[in-house]
Parts: sequence; structure tokens; C-alpha cells
Amino acid sequence: MKKESLLKEELKRGQADPLPVMEHFYTLQGEGAWTGEPAYFVRLAGCDVGCHWCDVKESWKVSPDQYHKGKEIANWVESSGSQRVVITGGEPTIYDLGPLTQEFSAKGIKTHIETAGVHPYTGKFDWICFSPKKFLKPREEYYQLANELKIIIYNKHDFKWAEEHAEKCHPQTQLFLQVEWTKRAELSQEIIDYIKRNPKWRLSQQTHKYLDIP
Ligand code: SF4
Repeated sequence: MKKESLLKEELKRGQADPLPVMEHFYTLQGEGAWTGEPAYFVRLAGCDVGCHWCDVKESWKVSPDQYHKGKEIANWVESSGSQRVVITGGEPTIYDLGPLTQEFSAKGIKTHIETAGVHPYTGKFDWICFSPKKFLKPREEYYQLANELKIIIYNKHDFKWAEEHAEKCHPQTQLFLQVEWTKRAELSQEIIDYIKRNPKWRLSQQTHKYLDIP
């Protein structure tokens, strides 16, 4: 699919409520700083970043039957018993997330976001996982906002690229390297060796894929 074709008219940039949800489910966070923590995942539909190795390309397109009000989304999370929600995508910053995070906040639910940081930061999140991509430049504000920087390693040049992003982050930002899933046989050992030489980084693994859970 060509990147140009991703920005459909129905992808209403800036829309706040309702929001298009591709899927939602209660599971364990599979990767990054919160690996193993139970969390309710809300995957918003729509992405204009266009990573060629994307493992959720079905999230790029938005359809009219996917829209749900923020109140309903917050009720899903509350009913599951989860104390924590992860807003992911797609690229969730396409939308104004203020009203949605207010709904979570009113219920005392901790909010996380996973974003490539390509659109303005909106809403109020307890944890920001910033994962910049080469295919669309991130906005500068995310380097200081990020609690966690997660860099996907697809080839050997990506270590240098990772360092360029790490240099711009807040000193408290936790730094993670994660192999792109199809490259794990080829690059996992390189990443482990790199982290041993550069211990400010930690390894992030997609444990949900190894365990075959959502
Ligand atoms: S930003 Fe995420 S959802 Fe969008 S193309 Fe890249 S990996 Fe896929």
C-alpha cells in the first residue's frame, strides 16, 4: 500500500470524540518498560506514518463503523477490572486525546500512550512511550515528554539512529532497543552485544508474540 493512499478523508485529523477503535482487549503489556503488567489495550484506527515493516497494517485504514464515544471506551476498561489503559494504534496522536483521557482520569484509570510522536501532544498521560520512526519526522516536544524511548532496530544502521534520538531525550527517559520481529534471528545478538557495550540501553522484547497472546 502506498503511503500517499493512507490519508483517507475519513481519517479526521484532530477529531476528539468519538474516536475510531480498531480493536480493544485486556492483556499484559508485552514490551518496553511495563512488560508483564496487566493493561487494557485500545488500538485506535488510522496511521499516516507508513512503516514498511509495520505488523498492524490493518490499523491504517479507518471505517465508519469503528467510532466509539470516549465514555463507552472508558467503560470497557473499567468493566474489565484493569487499572491501566494503553492507547496505541495506528498513530493515536492523529486525534485530540483530551476528552478520552478525561474519561479515564474520572474513573481513576492510569493512562499510557504508544506513539511515533508525529502530531501534537494532547490529553494527559501517566506514561508516554515514544517510538520515533524514519518514515515521518517526530515533533520535538516528544523528546522531553517521553518516559520511555523505544527504538525498533531493523538494520545495523539503526544503532546510530537510536543514539541520535536518545541524545535529545530528557535525562530520565528510559531507553529501549527492540528488534523488528522479522529480523530477530539476524539482529538479536547484535542488539544484546550493543547493550552490553552501551548499558544506558535496555532490551525490549515482544513477549506477547513469543507467548502468542494478544
Ligand atoms: S507507526 Fe506503528 S502503526 Fe503506523 S505504520 Fe509504523 S508501526 Fe505501523
